[in-house]
Amino acid sequence: MSGKVYLVGAGPGDHKLITLKGLECIKKADVILYDRLINPKLLKYSKENVETIYVGKEPNAHSYNQEEISQIILQKALKGNIVTRLKGGDPFVFGRGGEEALLLMENSVEFEIVPGITSAISVPAYAGIPVTHRNVSSSFHVITGHEDPQKQHSSLNYKALGALKGTLIFLMGIKNIVSISDNLIKYGQSPKRPVAVIRRGTTADQKILTGTLENIAEKVKEHGLKNPAIIIVGEVVKLSELLPWFDKKPLFGKRVLVTRTRTQASKLSEKIEELGGETIEFPTIEIVENHDHDDIDRAIGQIEKYKWLIFTSVNGVNYFFERMKKLSFDIRLLKNAKLCAIGPATAKELNDRGFVVDCIPKEYVAEGIVEELKDKIEEGDYVLLPRADIARKSLEEGLKKLGANVDNIDIYRTTIPKYERKELIEILKERKIDIITFTSSSTAKNFYTILGENNKELLDNITLASIGPITSKTANDLGMKINIEAKEFTIDGLVEAIL
Ligand code: SAH
Repeated sequence: MSGKVYLVGAGPGDHKLITLKGLECIKKADVILYDRLINPKLLKYSKENVETIYVGKEPNAHSYNQEEISQIILQKALKGNIVTRLKGGDPFVFGRGGEEALLLMENSVEFEIVPGITSAISVPAYAGIPVTHRNVSSSFHVITGHEDPQKQHSSLNYKALGALKGTLIFLMGIKNIVSISDNLIKYGQSPKRPVAVIRRGTTADQKILTGTLENIAEKVKEHGLKNPAIIIVGEVVKLSELLPWFDKKPLFGKRVLVTRTRTQASKLSEKIEELGGETIEFPTIEIVENHDHDDIDRAIGQIEKYKWLIFTSVNGVNYFFERMKKLSFDIRLLKNAKLCAIGPATAKELNDRGFVVDCIPKEYVAEGIVEELKDKIEEGDYVLLPRADIARKSLEEGLKKLGANVDNIDIYRTTIPKYERKELIEILKERKIDIITFTSSSTAKNFYTILGENNKELLDNITLASIGPITSKTANDLGMKINIEAKEFTIDGLVEAIL
């Protein structure tokens, strides 16, 4: 039985500009073939054992030609795989999707086309340029600029293009911009007609150059603007001055490395992306259950004796209640215990489970909890502290000084994920990271371990941001100088400080 092929448009760059259907195809694929312009973030949604094949063209690397690519798709499908072929923009707009589909058809392999958001429309949109506009432009035309108009038998009809009043959008045209603009003028377009060239639209590398048909080629040369870029000719270009939005976002153009666990990263990433930043997730910490349950089970067995349950992390809350459930202990047994959460995120996790939290310290650190409970804990009170194996001892010690009987339980462990030093170094070198975020001491410590002492100079031009003083101290002690520190020790506080 042969498998199935999805020819999927992955959008112009911003990874969120993919369709729901396209994303589903990534999630269910056994094999993914992808081009150079595909945002690598999209591949993170794939199955764990997926086979990914890079078929983009790159200098110094073997690149596949179209026949080879079509053959790989066919052969993988004939072996019974679900094959997702990811293409930039839309698969049928200068994407050679038609050729791939024809070969599949000939070989009776089932396929579907999943249209995508083409760069022809979305890249202008991110630059504040509507391709049509009432009373300004009533049509738009998408043209390949790949073909040199000087060549003898150009299939482009410049006579017709020269007469068009609508918006002209050239893809793949940057190399030929001199002859494109010359020819448009030669065949009747006004030399003063506005033109925009947009490179890597919808990404942190987006750059917009504007000019007119008579001077745009010169400007492109001056700025050394390279592919991928589109050329837009028409009066609508003027609207880019009135409607800038994407490159006006406060973190536009900034690349931020997020080092939290895979599951927790998204919250921080989303906030940064909302503000226009681009994020790269590289988890330096992984959370795993402590499989030795003796201590926690004993504590839960006598849960009613505790006057206070103190949670120092969202993970602690999750693992504690999961264990309660496993042991079939009803949460009503907690009715006499007071609840303390180290900060708002932990408190919210408790709220979401139906609890009203009794206390949150003013400063979201261990010392803050001790300060807050000073007058609340009585001599001999039992206190349960379900937390990570690496938690700082100061909380337990502080509570003991207040006279409490503290049961301090490793309910989960933090480890360093399987890592590739090479991958991190490549990200730091190639992806031009502006900011690295550390949301805990362990993210900083593990980052340092992964990077390797000898590669510290890679951080020289990067801004390091920390969630609070404890994390900052860990990083600084390792010689990674923190430049930004949150005032409020939360994710929101960190984002605020970065802003
Ligand atoms: N199928 C794609 C186009 C493939 S041809 C689509 O529908 O968008 C490749 C050309 O698309 C590039 O040479 C460039 O002209 C344009 N392009 C793709 N992504 C772009 C981006 N993010 N910014 C500017 N131009 C882009």
